[in-house]
Amino acid sequence: MMGPAHSLSGAAAWLGVGAAAAAAGHTMPWPVLVVGALICAGAALAPDLDHKSATISRAFGPVSKALCEIVDKLSYAVYKATKSAGDPRRTGGHRTLTHTWLWAVLIGGGCSVAAITGGRWAVLVILFVHLVLAVEGLLWRAARVSSDVLVWLLGATSAWILAGVLDKPGHGADWLFDAPGQEYLWLGLPIVLGALVHDIGDALTVSGCPILWPIPIGRKRWYPIGPPKAMRFRAGSWVEMKVLMPAFMVLGGVGGAAALNYI
Ligand SMILES: [Zn+2]
Repeated sequence: MMGPAHSLSGAAAWLGVGAAAAAAGHTMPWPVLVVGALICAGAALAPDLDHKSATISRAFGPVSKALCEIVDKLSYAVYKATKSAGDPRRTGGHRTLTHTWLWAVLIGGGCSVAAITGGRWAVLVILFVHLVLAVEGLLWRAARVSSDVLVWLLGATSAWILAGVLDKPGHGADWLFDAPGQEYLWLGLPIVLGALVHDIGDALTVSGCPILWPIPIGRKRWYPIGPPKAMRFRAGSWVEMKVLMPAFMVLGGVGGAAALNYI
């Protein structure tokens, strides 16, 4: 899928988690619901850091460009080193290492550890990166015509404001994990979820997605998971724009209402 559909599916997924959490008795305070949905929308773009022309590679100017080249090379090296007899030859790293459950868990876990050990600045950096991505993904038309600097300013100011909101008592810094010192441990959850939702979205497209790596399936360690061929669509096709994106909006709306106990 393309950036906007990935971001929308990420936001909808977190709102769905909010509904499930409410049903399980861990109702999210509204800032957790809103900030989590935005983080998840941003995190749902992150796996494409292995692809030069993806939204995320352009989001932070030369910094993300350089990071993208490193991640592409690293992914390709890991692919070559771990491919088994049934895996095809490849020429680049796109849709390999960063499109796996293991990567999702490592990135999300890393952010959780950073958030509980790094203090306020770590939380602000995590929020900033994901809010900029969320703007790029959800408001892509507006982000395209405005300058990068304006998008970064918007990300920075909203990160500052939202961190302030979350810090207020009862506003959810300690949602789900409420022992002393566990504030913001939950920040990794929307990040794991966003990456997984991205992988599932890619699995629905023609080329599939090796989500289960390094668990081998048959003779392949990089087995491209996906539904039967007839149910797959091309990235950016009308199915994505006219069916999936409106569906994500409706599901997200229903999930959000259930999460806040309105329905
Ligand atoms: Zn992808």
